[in-house]
Amino acid sequence: MGTYARFPVTLVKGNGCWVKDDTGKRYLDAVAGIATCTLGHSNSALRRALSQQLRKLQHVSNLYQIPEQEELAHWLTANSCASSVFFCNSGAEANEAAIKLARKHGHTRRGITQPVILTAMSSFHGRTLAAVTATGQPKYHQGFEPVVQGFDYFPYNDLQAFEALLESHEAKGPAVAAVLIEPLQGEGGVNPGDPAFFKRVRELCTERNILLILDEVQVGMGRSGRLWGYQQLGIEPDAFTLAKGLGGGHAIGALLVQEKADVFTPGDHASTFGGNPFACRAGLTIARELERRDLLKNVNDRGNELRTGLVRLIKAYPHLLKDARGWGLLQGLVLQDNANVTAAQLAAKALDHNLLVVAAGPSVLRMVPPLVINSREIRTLLTRLDTTLANG
Ligand SMILES: *Cc1c(COP(=O)(O)O)cnc(C)c1O
Repeated sequence: MGTYARFPVTLVKGNGCWVKDDTGKRYLDAVAGIATCTLGHSNSALRRALSQQLRKLQHVSNLYQIPEQEELAHWLTANSCASSVFFCNSGAEANEAAIKLARKHGHTRRGITQPVILTAMSSFHGRTLAAVTATGQPKYHQGFEPVVQGFDYFPYNDLQAFEALLESHEAKGPAVAAVLIEPLQGEGGVNPGDPAFFKRVRELCTERNILLILDEVQVGMGRSGRLWGYQQLGIEPDAFTLAKGLGGGHAIGALLVQEKADVFTPGDHASTFGGNPFACRAGLTIARELERRDLLKNVNDRGNELRTGLVRLIKAYPHLLKDARGWGLLQGLVLQDNANVTAAQLAAKALDHNLLVVAAGPSVLRMVPPLVINSREIRTLLTRLDTTLANG
């Protein structure tokens, strides 16, 4: 269907941070399947683990015990503030599970009949009806009304506005089930969360037994330089969602919850494919390689090199660029308000210079390379970006 405005490029082969198209042209990949290919393309550890898993068992459904799923859940809970995990297949689905969890929490733990979930403006939570309603960007709602009931929006990182919205809903008693926020807004323009804002939101949620749910679909699994984005903010959520980087390019999503927020009982939620042996083997391999190769250190070191280079580009192209922001290997280059080019146009232009980058909103160019990228590749990325800007 015509749901995508695709670039006129057909990628047919990949290795590490590099991909080749059907004409043999080679690109440095700073998109990584939209922040999913954690270990790059055709990674040998992932290839080996998944080939073995294919020979063993792929899918049996959640009617039965699944050792690979249990092992991945153990790793995730041992390495986070959560104590249990629900597995699904995508970010939107993980957020749908979180929204259902929040509503049940609102009904059963706060006695609310019509629970409301507060989310941020310019957020992105996915494209299913509830996830897209949670997404605080009217352009994603247009044409699909009526949107789902029970959502309201506050400006990101704006404590006064958040408190005012919370008070307006709670004036006559409990009404808010949860606050759902990204630690850093990815699609919405690579906008990092403000630790002071998140700290106060955490306090307000704790005081009222409102769930604080973080959407870690893009920043989770190491991309920020910490395993979880919430570690960048110095807080712990009651629940958080994962997808993109968790499977290293394979479909998997997850909702992780702390014990006190785990209100689901058998029959409340389910997924046919969720947590299958193949997807969980992919997740386990990513987890193992993150540890074995000390990739968090690489994310921080390469992230710093990338940021330093972006700052240099801002100085070289002051008429075009105004800011660089992000965490680790999720970096955004912000265009000037009066730049005569959009981020999407620059991303298209970069193809001519053998570089894959992606827009995050109209005025931010986003770089999310594989977490295994090396220094030389960072330099190549910056050189090709420079050439793109010089010719853009
Ligand atoms: C990509 C993304 C989603 C949606 O994930 P899908 O797998 O496309 O459904 C949700 N939240 C955030 C923060 C994302 O970046």
